[in-house]
Formats: sequence, structure tokens, C-alpha cells
Amino acid sequence: MLMLTCPYCGIDADETELTPGGQAHLTRETVGSDDDTFESYLFMRENPKGVHFERWRHSYGCGKWFHAARCTVTLEVFGTYSAQTTEPPKEICDKISGKRPGWSWGSFS
Ligand SMILES: [Zn+2]
Repeated sequence: MLMLTCPYCGIDADETELTPGGQAHLTRETVGSDDDTFESYLFMRENPKGVHFERWRHSYGCGKWFHAARCTVTLEVFGTYSAQTTEPPKEICDKISGKRPGWSWGSFS
């Protein structure tokens, strides 16, 4: 079972207490975007076999949205952090790089 620690209330929540919100760190496109960019924003998502950054909501807890870095193959969680960031914290990227040599945030985004 997937367990994530809510970065706001500190509770270790299992997946039945959480709501998935899809890929984290998307750039929101607006009315002024060209059609290809807007289509990509609406429909194209990362679907990696490995490290992924996701949005989750602590639905049956504090109700806040947060981000999680985890492996989609092993369900290993590298960390959770505030959703009010444009990229993952350095300590989470360092933790991932330590366990997955060659991985970098730049190669994901
Ligand atoms: Zn919470």
C-alpha cells in the first residue's frame, strides 16, 4: 500500500486517505497560448517507469494539496513537499540521485 507523509500536518496517510491529482510541476497555459502548446498542456503527461513527481490531496485529513516524489515501479517514496513550489526541493533531488545514479531533475522536466 502506498503511504505518503503529508508535509502540512505530518501524518503518515495511506492511499485511502489521499486523492491523486496527476503530474506535478505543470506549467499552466492560458488563453494566449498557441493551439499546440495548449493541446499539450491539456492532454500530454509524463508516464515514466521510475521516478515521478505527483500531486496528491490529503482528502481525509487537512485537505491540502502537496507534491510527492516516488518510484512508479517500487512505490519507494523519496519525499513529499509543499505544492507551492515550481520544482522539487534540493534534498529530495539529492536523495533520488543518490539512489538512482545518472538521474537529474533536468532530465525529467
Ligand atoms: Zn495533511
